[in-house]
Amino acid sequence: MECWHCERPANAVCSFCGRSVCKEHAKNLPYLLDSFRDKTGKLKGLAVSDAIWCGTCHPKDEPVELDGLE
Ligand SMILES: [Zn+2]
Ligand SMILES: [Zn+2]
Repeated sequence: MECWHCERPANAVCSFCGRSVCKEHAKNLPYLLDSFRDKTGKLKGLAVSDAIWCGTCHPKDEPVELDGLE
């Protein structure tokens, strides 16, 4: 696979969209693995603080509604 940006061999894959990127173009973003409610009903997220990000896609901060997928 080649880097999305420079077409050199890729070292990593974006955690959000799956594009491949080289070390030079890979960026880091927090990645939300899972979310759940604790005993008090507060919504908590389980996140990786520096997941690989391609720098091109736009991960949403908020979960999106999945109407029509049920
Ligand atoms: Zn690159
Ligand atoms: Zn991406």
